[in-house]
Amino acid sequence: MKYIVLEALKEVKPGYLSGEQLSRRLEVSRTAVWKYINELKLEGYEIEASSRKGYRLLSEPDILDARLLSADLATSVVGSKILYFDEVDSTNIRAKELAGNTPDGTVILAGRQSAGRGRLGRKWESDDGGGIYMSVILKPEIPPEEVQLITLAASVAIVSAIKDAAGIDAGIKWPNDIILDGRKVCGILTEMSSEMERVNYVVLGIGINFSQELGDFPEELRNKAVSISEYMEEKGLKPCKKAELVRSILVRLDEVYRMLLEGRKNDIIATWKNMSVTIGRDVAVSGREVSYTGKALDITEDGRLVVLCENGILKEIISGEVSVRGLLGYV
Ligand code: ADP
Repeated sequence: MKYIVLEALKEVKPGYLSGEQLSRRLEVSRTAVWKYINELKLEGYEIEASSRKGYRLLSEPDILDARLLSADLATSVVGSKILYFDEVDSTNIRAKELAGNTPDGTVILAGRQSAGRGRLGRKWESDDGGGIYMSVILKPEIPPEEVQLITLAASVAIVSAIKDAAGIDAGIKWPNDIILDGRKVCGILTEMSSEMERVNYVVLGIGINFSQELGDFPEELRNKAVSISEYMEEKGLKPCKKAELVRSILVRLDEVYRMLLEGRKNDIIATWKNMSVTIGRDVAVSGREVSYTGKALDITEDGRLVVLCENGILKEIISGEVSVRGLLGYV
């Protein structure tokens, strides 16, 4: 019920609603309205109460509330269900536990992670609550070899969402890092369960540094990592709200997911290329057996990176280590 009060106040913002109007609309007593207002205040909503004019919403807290996020989310699949946890080991682990019994597009959000992971079993620093930690459970009808496209599509969605919510231009380092001025602001970890021919589900894990200051990161990341707020402060820009960014991410993910299901691979790859900070740069590739340097030329239809090696040979890379000169401390 308090969320109905909140929605009503949002509708008239920056105007007032009197206690009487609210009590009529909700069909509860004015004392009950007053009680809901107080509960909202406890959640961090700043609400002014004037004895003559009524109540007015001044500002909203920067928290993620699954119900509020779902309230007027204009998506068709992503966010079909949203679950929020204050703390989890890893949103991807939680998502995999839930995947069998939850609809396509379910989103798991967490305030912090005690065991956030990156690719190849690496750690994703996420225990301080300054980030956005989320996993999306997807059940696309695509062959397993196309799952890499989901990672590319997600990178496109996140760069677009950062632009929508914060007005800044991030770039993509192949295949899955989102970069602001050479520092990593977001990592994506895609995991899947599949049979030979079909995908059972994909868990798309997204970790975004949102409000951490540089000193909040461990020493070894301080010249490689940045948060959205830190970056905006450096540029003298007005901060954006966490919930707003999460909402934009869900909307943009929904958009690229639909593109993927409609078979619009080429559109996704074309947008990805435009956002890429890898193509055209010198790269160092370290594989399981051999390492080499060269120039990143292109990306194939299914998301492989094409590298022209220094010995003149063209190679297509599916996954592995690619350092890009000038990014994340590689000089
Ligand atoms: P990679 O960038 O090597 O492909 P991942 O995307 O899986 O790997 O991310 C894991 C790596 O990202 C870690 O090894 C670490 O160097 C870096 N990292 C960990 N936590 C953060 C963070 N919060 N912000 C930026 N970079 C991080």
